Amino acid sequence: MLYSAQVLTQQMYPKILNSLRELAGGGMIMLPSSVADFANPEIAAMIEKTQQSPAANSHDRVKFYKLAWDAVGSEFGSRHHQYEMFYAGATFVTKGHSFRTYDWGKAGGIVQSMLDSYDLDSKPAA
Ligand SMILES: Cc1cc2nc3c(=O)[nH]c(=O)nc-3n(C[C@H](O)[C@H](O)[C@H](O)COP(=O)(O)OP(=O)(O)OC[C@H]3O[C@@H](n4cnc5c(N)ncnc54)[C@H](O)[C@@H]3O)c2cc1C
Repeated sequence: MLYSAQVLTQQMYPKILNSLRELAGGGMIMLPSSVADFANPEIAAMIEKTQQSPAANSHDRVKFYKLAWDAVGSEFGSRHHQYEMFYAGATFVTKGHSFRTYDWGKAGGIVQSMLDSYDLDSKPAA
């Protein structure tokens, strides 16, 4: 189970990042560059006007998109992407562990027990 989790995580994490990018579109780019922008009344008024949405005011929306950017676009996010893909070993290594330790006999046994449960002369279920 542990090796399966390692294999799946390596495959899923990049997909999750890609989904975040698809969902966010250009929203993650069109953000104030710094929290200091909120302190400038002229720029704050522009942020207020352009960053609001039906679901959130400009303050909450900027925080939300900055959080998404932390995951996909920041230095931290980029490093973490690489980390999730490799920290447990390259994918051919984790897949090898998973293949080597999987209980193939048990899985084959489940299939065999299903095949053994009926025969040519079995009556179809009503
Ligand atoms: C951000 C980050 C943090 C890390 N932190 C730790 C840590 O805390 N502790 C720790 O011990 N290690 C850590 N690692 C190291 C990690 O364990 C290694 O990166 C991992 O084992 C892969 O080895 P490598 O980097 O030498 O890549 P390589 O083995 O050089 O692989 C590079 C690419 O080549 C492919 N490749 C290489 N050989 C083959 C082959 N024979 N067949 C098919 N494809 C192949 C791989 O699939 C991969 O795509 C970290 C790595 C990263 C990126």
